[in-house]
Amino acid sequence: MRRWNGWGDDSVTYPLPPTARDYIERILGRGSLIQDASLQDSLASVPSSRFPAHPHIKTDPFERLTHARGQSLPDWIALRSGRILNYPDGVAYPQDRSDLIDLLNFSRDSGAILIPYGGGTSVVGHINPLPSSDPVLTVDLSHLNHLLDLDETSRLASFEAGISGPQIEKILNARGYTLGHFPQSFELSTLGGWIATRSSGQQSYHYGRIEDLFAGGRMETFHGPLDMPVHPASAAGPDIKQIILGSEGRLGIISSAAVRIQPLPEVESFQAAFFHDWQSGSDAVREIAQAGISVSMLRLSNSLETETTLALSGKDDLVRWADRALNWIRYDQDRCLLIYGLTGDRKTVRFASRQAAQVIRSHAGLPTGSTIGKMWRKSRFLSPYLRNSLWEAGFALDTLETALPWSKVHSCALDVLNSLKHGLQSLEEHVLVFAHLSHVYRDGASLYVTYLYRRSSDPDQTLHRWQLLKSAASQVIISHQGTISHQHGVGVDHRDYLVEEKGVIGIQMLKAIDQYMDPTGTLNPGKLFPDGSLDEVEK
Ligand SMILES: Cc1cc2nc3c(=O)[nH]c(=O)nc-3n(C[C@H](O)[C@H](O)[C@H](O)COP(=O)(O)OP(=O)(O)OC[C@H]3O[C@@H](n4cnc5c(N)ncnc54)[C@H](O)[C@@H]3O)c2cc1C
Repeated sequence: MRRWNGWGDDSVTYPLPPTARDYIERILGRGSLIQDASLQDSLASVPSSRFPAHPHIKTDPFERLTHARGQSLPDWIALRSGRILNYPDGVAYPQDRSDLIDLLNFSRDSGAILIPYGGGTSVVGHINPLPSSDPVLTVDLSHLNHLLDLDETSRLASFEAGISGPQIEKILNARGYTLGHFPQSFELSTLGGWIATRSSGQQSYHYGRIEDLFAGGRMETFHGPLDMPVHPASAAGPDIKQIILGSEGRLGIISSAAVRIQPLPEVESFQAAFFHDWQSGSDAVREIAQAGISVSMLRLSNSLETETTLALSGKDDLVRWADRALNWIRYDQDRCLLIYGLTGDRKTVRFASRQAAQVIRSHAGLPTGSTIGKMWRKSRFLSPYLRNSLWEAGFALDTLETALPWSKVHSCALDVLNSLKHGLQSLEEHVLVFAHLSHVYRDGASLYVTYLYRRSSDPDQTLHRWQLLKSAASQVIISHQGTISHQHGVGVDHRDYLVEEKGVIGIQMLKAIDQYMDPTGTLNPGKLFPDGSLDEVEK
């Protein structure tokens, strides 16, 4: 069963290895064991629903509690402390398109707010009801999970939008295909959610980001169905799909989508290499990307992430042995780990592997084969479970990300890391912060930052610490002209930074589209950009 106040299936755990706990406590101090609110108490605090009885709307406290929050750190603090504040008044599970249309009309006509809900894995507050005098209906799309069409000649598959990552891959793999979209939230996130948030999978370098995979589909809107026909390419004016991508539930409900698929690769391999420092590693991955070498993933950790990843792996003997060996050959305190993916037919993979190793060596890097890559692959969807164990040991973990041109990545990384490292100095608390380049492009890279700090016994204080850190890092990102999000989207947590990135004209354009598509302000208000008049944005 899905955890109601943490990540993933409650039968799966990823215990914190004792050496990892010691390692974290050496940096942050001892974490305190703080009792979480119980499910029973949390259910008891769900207020009465404001909806009258409706055959398609569930109003029981369990449904409303489990759809009240996503997976951001503020969401975790709220769920674990029982201070959830706002709940949907009801949850509906449409079975087909006509249910979706009925629910849209019901919400508009009854003055309710409607929040489309995919897998609820948002990390920026996308699916949270905000305070409102109107009742809130969460529309959970998980029953819309069918394959609609498979065009093998064109390598296109059409699915209902509530289908999850594993469901898509199960259907496609059985027919010899893959979509290849593997965000770390793969287990729970959905096709509609990926499109609505402009998601990026771990191997997007090979398979493409969701905007490359999304070929067309349908959105149910207040004006009727918006059909986006599939064309391999088009010069017929602006691309409507680009407006639907990242629309965060504000323009309509995506009911189906056609995606570009590929045959299952003959080989899927992950290899590792070490560099003396981050700069040489970063020069190597840039060269690999700019040379167009056929890798599927390039993930370069900084030295602290390299050290922390090895400490958290729980493979103490192997790590000790590797540490001694690497020190011996002078890959010592600043060493950085690169994990790179190779995907395709045997011949292409062999060639790409040789080419990548050549570039790595030319930057004094050390290719080490596939042992570490295999470990990474085994835990690629398991590592979010560690967040449960860290929380229970007294530590809060969050991540943030941006993307910038190569010429700016390093200075931004340095400043973001510093802003977080010293972000709780005034409270005399330490922060463990590390980063990796998670997705690379010819012109730049995304920077993915993880930070941990101690929880306080007062949840408001834990939230205050997060606010200090998040705001400091976001300001730095904006000052370097990085995007406020490379893959997580905007939601509530990033909406105030959007005008810096899109400019006033850009925000006005988006708001005008929103106004046309949702004149009654029914769809997920308060997300993506602050609601209010255009004059307020102008200021
Ligand atoms: C542990 C963890 C790891 C993650 N790793 C990644 C990663 O590697 N890459 C990445 O990109 N993201 C990642 N994320 C973030 C998150 O998984 C993505 O944003 C994902 O795309 C959200 O999908 P979802 O189905 O859960 O959508 P939800 O969280 O349910 O919804 C997100 C937004 O999309 C809207 N929406 C959902 N479905 C529809 C629909 N059918 N029509 C219209 N609007 C809709 C919602 O209204 C909401 O605004 C991670 C999150 C977690 C918790």
